[in-house]
Amino acid sequence: MAFKQRVFSGVQPTGNLHLGNYLGALVKFVALQERYDCIYCVVDLHAITVWQEPAELPHAIREVTAAFIACGIDPKKHIVFNQSQVAEHAELAWIFNCVARMGWLNRMTQFKEKAGKDRENASVGLYAYPTLMAADILVYRATHVPVGEDQKQHLELSRDIAQKFNNDFGASIRAHGHGDAFFPLPEPLIQGPATRVMSLRDGTKKMSKSDASDYSRINLTDDADAIAQKIRKAKTDPEPLPHEEKGLEHRPEADNLVGIYAALADTSRAQVLAQFGGAQFSAFKAALIDLLVGKLAPLNAEMRRLIADPAYIDQVLADGAARAQGLAAETMKAVKDIVGFVHR
Ligand code: ATP
Ligand code: MG
Repeated sequence: MAFKQRVFSGVQPTGNLHLGNYLGALVKFVALQERYDCIYCVVDLHAITVWQEPAELPHAIREVTAAFIACGIDPKKHIVFNQSQVAEHAELAWIFNCVARMGWLNRMTQFKEKAGKDRENASVGLYAYPTLMAADILVYRATHVPVGEDQKQHLELSRDIAQKFNNDFGASIRAHGHGDAFFPLPEPLIQGPATRVMSLRDGTKKMSKSDASDYSRINLTDDADAIAQKIRKAKTDPEPLPHEEKGLEHRPEADNLVGIYAALADTSRAQVLAQFGGAQFSAFKAALIDLLVGKLAPLNAEMRRLIADPAYIDQVLADGAARAQGLAAETMKAVKDIVGFVHR
């Protein structure tokens, strides 16, 4: 069966939006608007899988929304909303909790990383995070999901859940006139030179919102001075830049900075090295700072302007939520019939 092509993706309002979110997700979100109907979600239900201060969460939700719009997402042509306004996400997630197997979730590396050593004390929500993510995507029967490399495993799980639902309920799906499959198997879109931006302090760790050191990341709200300082202090090795990509092997910090440069300049690592091969890091870092400030300063200004008008942001979210819910409710109605629930 052919499914209508549709893009879904989300970003958590967990604070400190950073360059990894920008290059790994937001830039892709913007580009896909040309070719697909897109749904971009501020996933606040995901955020509370770890503690969020109730007095700060509304600001974090509005800040991610502002970042979406400031980057160039058009909330009129596409859909922008926060997850908790569309209850169907949580409803479908419950059904998926009953489709997914414990063994599948036990393999998820994000849970292991985020729960750390004290697994007994992690929330049940953190463990079930991937089934909610599958519901986010599949409640719109979305076919394409732009994400960073770190979400690849969760996307594979979403495909497994869709497949198992289609198999387990196959007879009912056919009986209700949906053909052989009710859910598409969503495809991850993970491409380009910056699918996994690493910490500026440690080239083996993902750049992340929650890293204790602010010097590990470039925040989208950093001003030019902060950006310059962080890049100047970014860890490197003593060698000059290589002339070819192969020379970046076993040099994770160099590889990371070259990847960031390539993504910002919309080119490849090879092209960047053709220009900077043989250069010292001091020269390369100066060029990288210029590029970063040139890209992020206007974005930063636009985010501030939008955040100053929370009523506008809330209006965008309400309008998006209403349109999203229209689509989600249709899916849930069909799912209830397929599962065998009696409903109005
Ligand atoms: P948290 O630490 O709260 O999980 P996060 O920085 O991982 O925060 P998310 O909201 O979980 O941010 O992810 C939003 C999007 O950004 C996802 O598509 C994710 O794959 C992508 N992303 C996150 N970190 C990076 C990174 N370092 N490089 C590239 N993409 C990233
Ligand atoms: Mg994350």
